[in-house]
Amino acid sequence: MSSDRKGFPFISIVIPLYNEEKNVMPLYASLKDVINRDKREYEIIFVDDGSDDATLKYLEDLQKKDKSVVVLSLRKNFGQTAALVAGFDYAAGDIIVTMDGDLQNDPEDIPGLIDKMKDYDVVSGWRRDRKDPFLTRRLPSIIANWLISKVTGLRLHDYGCTLKAYRKDIIQNIRLYGEMHRFIPAVAKWSGAKVGEIDTRHHPRRFGSSKYGISRTVRVVLDLITVRFFQSFSTRPLHAFGLMGLILGGAGLMLSAYLTAEKLFLGYDIGGRPLLLLGVLLIILGVQFIAMGLLGEILVRIYHESQDKPIYIIRKVFRHNGR
Ligand code: UDP
Ligand code: MG
Repeated sequence: MSSDRKGFPFISIVIPLYNEEKNVMPLYASLKDVINRDKREYEIIFVDDGSDDATLKYLEDLQKKDKSVVVLSLRKNFGQTAALVAGFDYAAGDIIVTMDGDLQNDPEDIPGLIDKMKDYDVVSGWRRDRKDPFLTRRLPSIIANWLISKVTGLRLHDYGCTLKAYRKDIIQNIRLYGEMHRFIPAVAKWSGAKVGEIDTRHHPRRFGSSKYGISRTVRVVLDLITVRFFQSFSTRPLHAFGLMGLILGGAGLMLSAYLTAEKLFLGYDIGGRPLLLLGVLLIILGVQFIAMGLLGEILVRIYHESQDKPIYIIRKVFRHNGR
């Protein structure tokens, strides 16, 4: 139901929440404050990511009172990425804004973020003055941002900032797994999107606790490898493995040809030559690599052509009919 009322885009704000009971009400209040002052039309999609505190109860109360609120309740805790994707799938807006549900992002930044979307397909927040501990949060984040920028080729200062805005059609064409929501701007860029950056505020967490520890860094690096691999080779795995196979197999063939010539024309005994072993090994390796590439080609076709399977299960959708 994408409306274009008065020529303004319709905005969906997607907010994942996992055990944020103390944050729900203040977050809603400050969101409403911003929305009421803005000329654009909004919907707020709260995604309860299987909270086991009173988060869902508060959200249900809000939804009953406010027509612009949609609540998705996930069946269990699927993680922040899956919760965001659930929100994307239900978002009706032309522009989708994501933010954290713990009041660390500031709703006051949303109108500016959307204004910037006039010139971009994706705009990412940059918590220039980030209010998190240095050693466990800001330092790993500086390194991670540098690494991700290098590997993906998109320079962003703050991949980890959830406050971002996307054009609906951009987000619809990206499939996300693991904890890959932070890579959306890079993936979008690869498919031709214009990506911008904007300064945003950041606040220390007041209620509840962070859902992540330092181990997240490792998972981010692993996800980065996956994302990069898919960027280069997801459509042509034979190019990745096949090249290797041709080089190794080719070298093996040349060695064997050389030994064969020595045997045939010079009558040398080649049975005990280490070179023979190497040649045979290289040929076998080369054949294996090419076979792997071909298997990859089969998998890629299955991956791209099989039915779309969501990475979450929704228990129930709370929304008003004919909104
Ligand atoms: N979150 C979620 N599911 C999870 C973990 C986190 O929906 O499994 C939400 C969480 O409620 C918050 C946002 O994702 O709204 C960011 O999480 P958090 O504040 O713990 O991350 P940090 O700010 O410490 O990086
Ligand atoms: Mg937080």
